[in-house]
Amino acid sequence: MADLLVVGSVALDTVETPFGKVREVLGGAATYFSYAASFFTPVHLVGVVGEDFPEEHLRLLKDRGVDLAGLQVARGRTFRWTGQYGYDLNEARTLDTQLNVFADFRPAVTADLRGVPFLFLANIDPEIQLDVLRQMRARPRLVALDTMNFWIQGKRQALLRVLAEVDVVTINDGEARQLAQEPNLVKAARAIAAMGPKTVVVKRGEYGALMIADGSFFIVPAYPLESVYDPTGAGDTFAGGFMGHLAAQDRVDGATMRRALVYGSVMASFTVEDFSLNRLIRLAPAEISERFAEFQDLMRLPV
Ligand code: AMP
Repeated sequence: MADLLVVGSVALDTVETPFGKVREVLGGAATYFSYAASFFTPVHLVGVVGEDFPEEHLRLLKDRGVDLAGLQVARGRTFRWTGQYGYDLNEARTLDTQLNVFADFRPAVTADLRGVPFLFLANIDPEIQLDVLRQMRARPRLVALDTMNFWIQGKRQALLRVLAEVDVVTINDGEARQLAQEPNLVKAARAIAAMGPKTVVVKRGEYGALMIADGSFFIVPAYPLESVYDPTGAGDTFAGGFMGHLAAQDRVDGATMRRALVYGSVMASFTVEDFSLNRLIRLAPAEISERFAEFQDLMRLPV
């Protein structure tokens, strides 16, 4: 079992879906990621919150064993994101992004974390992602990165710089097309691989995920759910299951990557069943293995 380090947003989210609205609830890419990954392996979080960040949220992460030594509390307001989904839950519409304490955040990776072998650069300013990568003592065994339209549009050059140095990128379909400037998803994934990462994982919401690794494809479905309330955090939870499994196995070979992709789908399928992290908070470890077995059944092709 190997340790996992994540840098990314820790947020207060305001979200509206056709099924309800929540205000200033716990969110953020690193939050969903670390909570999900904590079911698999020890996780360390690097990020920043403001003085207004509720203590109970910190307790929630600590109770799952997430190491928050690298989470700074800075003077100012916590990062805030406001998003909306229509009946097509696959596409979030960002109504407002307030970087607040993330605007001048300088991450500090402590000496004891600079040798962590699995690193996830969750969705945040690509300059911060690069800064963390540069602070690692040795090149981690596996570096994965996630990003979104806000940064593809606003910080493209910095994003291309960090992309050139990672092994895996996880990205949703719309953003893959935007990053590659290519409407065909297969061509887009290949174009992103040409930017640096050997493995590209394209998240396709209710249609599952597609992985291209060294030129070969693997596809995993999404769990067929009848009650999807809020897709926020699905992508980060997916990455948490994916990286969590790789780190827990301490392996990065093709077969382990494929199983990790299914664990990603398993974890994401829970997150969307409720707002914020509510479903993950109620999640029992046994449910993960049960749903993994259901996936194996779903994906079985009789001969
Ligand atoms: P996803 O897994 O893609 O649904 O990510 C949802 C999370 O991303 C939310 O909890 C937001 O707080 C966070 N988020 C939204 N916009 C940004 C941004 N520009 N940078 C970092 N995190 C963001």
